[in-house]
Amino acid sequence: MSQCNSSLIDEGNKCPKCGSSVYRFEVPPHGMLEGCPNPECTWQRWQAMDEAGQKDYIEVRIADTGQGIPKRICQIV
Ligand SMILES: [Zn+2]
Repeated sequence: MSQCNSSLIDEGNKCPKCGSSVYRFEVPPHGMLEGCPNPECTWQRWQAMDEAGQKDYIEVRIADTGQGIPKRICQIV
């Protein structure tokens, strides 16, 4: 059986808000994105945003190459 040992969690890096291990990955060409996986914590740090200064909003786009969400569980409210 094959196993994936890759993890985005950086054990050596703790969330300054709640102390959980943070996730950390590179977003080329914008630099490192770090955040807390704790659903009750919203801590996040994006190197490029920090260097550019305070902004009013951030846009996040998520895409995949899967077969989509079945119509029966997809609802527009
Ligand atoms: Zn946290």
